[in-house]
Amino acid sequence: MRNFVVAIDGPSGTGKSTTARILADKLKVLYIDSGAMYRAITYLVLKKKINPTDSSKIIELTKSADLKLEGENVYINGEDVTKQIRSLEVTNRVSAISKIREVREILVSKQREFANSQSVIMDGRDIGTVVFPNADFKFYFTCDIKTRAARRQQDFRDHGLKIPLDKIKLELKKRDDIDANRKESPLRKAKESIEVDTTNMIIEEQVDCLYKKIISQLDN
Ligand code: C5P
Repeated sequence: MRNFVVAIDGPSGTGKSTTARILADKLKVLYIDSGAMYRAITYLVLKKKINPTDSSKIIELTKSADLKLEGENVYINGEDVTKQIRSLEVTNRVSAISKIREVREILVSKQREFANSQSVIMDGRDIGTVVFPNADFKFYFTCDIKTRAARRQQDFRDHGLKIPLDKIKLELKKRDDIDANRKESPLRKAKESIEVDTTNMIIEEQVDCLYKKIISQLDN
């Protein structure tokens, strides 16, 4: 099979990551959660108590960070931060960090390196528009806010956190707003992407939907 790139974009809680991970497993290709990269930098900013408005310090930190994605695990400067990057603190702060142009440039170049010599499935906000504008397959996930909030609540519960639905809804809306209205690489549906509304779909259906589209084209 030839090498290919699958880009999956959309707001948080639409099921991108879970779908992408299972799909990558099925297709035996690399999965990259680009959001985890922005989260890891945010974790480090918080850990080092850097003022979130001090862009130059944040850029320096990003330049020197040793960021590794290994399977489901995320490491920054040798520390396993897989769990920590899902905390509420990181979640609430990540959009402010990811809007810094230079931070994006550094992470986007790392993201492109992953696809140098292998097939990759990557999910995020700007994968089909900026990171891989020539991706072989582009999908854009949507889902209604109620369902997204409920899914996020379950994610938090899985990580041992009990958070009220209203609080999650508010946080999701705030993050969507920053991600979609920022100057650098805002969340947008690439013209040619296939829209997948996951509101009434279960994970298996989502995976199947993408899998069929990819396989039918790769076979041609
Ligand atoms: O996908 P996830 O919710 O983990 O992403 C966390 C945050 O990282 C997003 O809200 C967004 O601010 C940022 N992000 C981004 N570009 C990407 C992936 C994530 O700006 N490609």
